[in-house]
Amino acid sequence: MKFVIEPAKKCAGRLGLLTGIDRIPDKSYKTPLLLFTEQNLSREVLEISGFQNIAVLLSFDCSVQMTNALKLYKKGISEFIGLKECLTFVTIKNPCYPCLTGHHEKGSLPVYKKSGKINVTSEDYMTFIKESMPDFFVTLADGDTWHDCSKKRIIKSNERSNEMLDECIKHQQGIKVKWSKMIGTVEGGYSEHERRKSVDHIKQHDEKIIGYFIDGLHRNGHDAVSLDSIKVNEIVKYTLSILPHDKIKIMLGAFLPNQVLELVSIGIDVFDSSFAILVSKMNRALTFNFNLQNPALLDSGPEIDLTDSKYKDDFSPFVESCQCLTCKQHTKAYTNHLLNTKELLGPMLLTIHNLHHYKMYFEAIRECIKNDELSDLKEMIDVQYKNKTFSYEVQKNVAQTN
Ligand SMILES: [Zn+2]
Repeated sequence: MKFVIEPAKKCAGRLGLLTGIDRIPDKSYKTPLLLFTEQNLSREVLEISGFQNIAVLLSFDCSVQMTNALKLYKKGISEFIGLKECLTFVTIKNPCYPCLTGHHEKGSLPVYKKSGKINVTSEDYMTFIKESMPDFFVTLADGDTWHDCSKKRIIKSNERSNEMLDECIKHQQGIKVKWSKMIGTVEGGYSEHERRKSVDHIKQHDEKIIGYFIDGLHRNGHDAVSLDSIKVNEIVKYTLSILPHDKIKIMLGAFLPNQVLELVSIGIDVFDSSFAILVSKMNRALTFNFNLQNPALLDSGPEIDLTDSKYKDDFSPFVESCQCLTCKQHTKAYTNHLLNTKELLGPMLLTIHNLHHYKMYFEAIRECIKNDELSDLKEMIDVQYKNKTFSYEVQKNVAQTN
C-alpha cells in the first residue's frame, strides 16, 4: 500500500492518494476520505444510488457472527457482502452506536451485542481478521476513555491496549493474514502524557503499521457530536505532532461537519459517515450548504425534520440541486408520508440522500484544500451549525442495535 501526500498548499489540511492496495491494485482513493458505515444498503441500492467505488467501514461487533461463514467462504468479507471492488476497513465497534462503558476483564475487551456481552480476546479478533481478510484493520484496543474520565481509567486503557497490540502482532505473524494491513490504534484519552506513551509503544512496531487510528476521545454514537472542539483539537494536534508525518491518520465518529473541518485542517485523512447515518435515524435530511460558488443559505437551516407536518404538501426535493436518487425521484411530501406511516422506504430514502450529501461534502473539502479555500468553507459551515441545538440521541439501547 502506498500513501502519497500532495505537497502542502498555504492553507491547512492535506490531500493524499491511497494506492497500491494489495487486493485491488487498480483502485485508488483520495483523502480526506469518507468511509461508508451503512451496512443495510444492498449492492443494488448502492449502485443505483451512485455509490460505486466506495470505501466501506465494517465493524467487528456487527460482523463477528459471520466468522464461521467467512471461514467456509474463503474469499474474504469484501466479496462476501457483494462489494469485492470496494476497499474494506475493519474497526472494533461501529461508530454509529453508543458504547456501554466499564465491565473490563483481564485479557479481553467487552463488546456488547443484542445477545449480550462477549469478552473478545486478541486471538478471537485476529481469527476474525484472518477469515474476513479486510484491506485494513485497526489493532484491538481499549478505547473506553472520554473527556472527563479518570486518570486511572486512561492509564488502564493504555496498558490494556499496549498488551492487545503486542498480541495482535504476535497472532498476525502466526496466521499470515493475507493482504490485510494493520493500523495502530492510539489511545491515551485527553492526556498528552498517556498519548505519548501509547505512540512510543506503537512506534516499536512501526514497520508493521501502515497508519494510525486516533481513538479514545468519545464513546461513539451521539457522544461524538457534542465534543468540546477546543479540547479535541488540542489533543489531536499534539498526537499528530509525535506521529510520523507520512502515514495515514484516521478518526472515526459522528463529528459535526464543522468539527470535521477542524480535524481536516489539523491533518486527519480518513473519516466515516456515521454523522449522516445518525441524522437519518433522527428522520432529518442534511441540507447544509457547502457550495462556495453559490453561498446562499437556506432559511430552513442545515437539517430538516421530514416528519414535520409543514412538509406534507411540499412537492420539492430535499435539496433543489441534489443529484441523489431520492431528490431526483421523490419529494419532501412523499417522504413525510412514508415516515409518518412508518414505511421502511422512508428511512432508506433519507439515508440515500444523507450519504450522498455527505459524500459530496467530502468532495467539496478536497476541492477547497486544492484551491486554498478551506478557511472560507469553514466559515460557511460554522455559520450554519453554530448555535444549532439539534438532538442526535437515538432513543434505543445499543444492545438492541447490533
Ligand atoms: Zn438528495
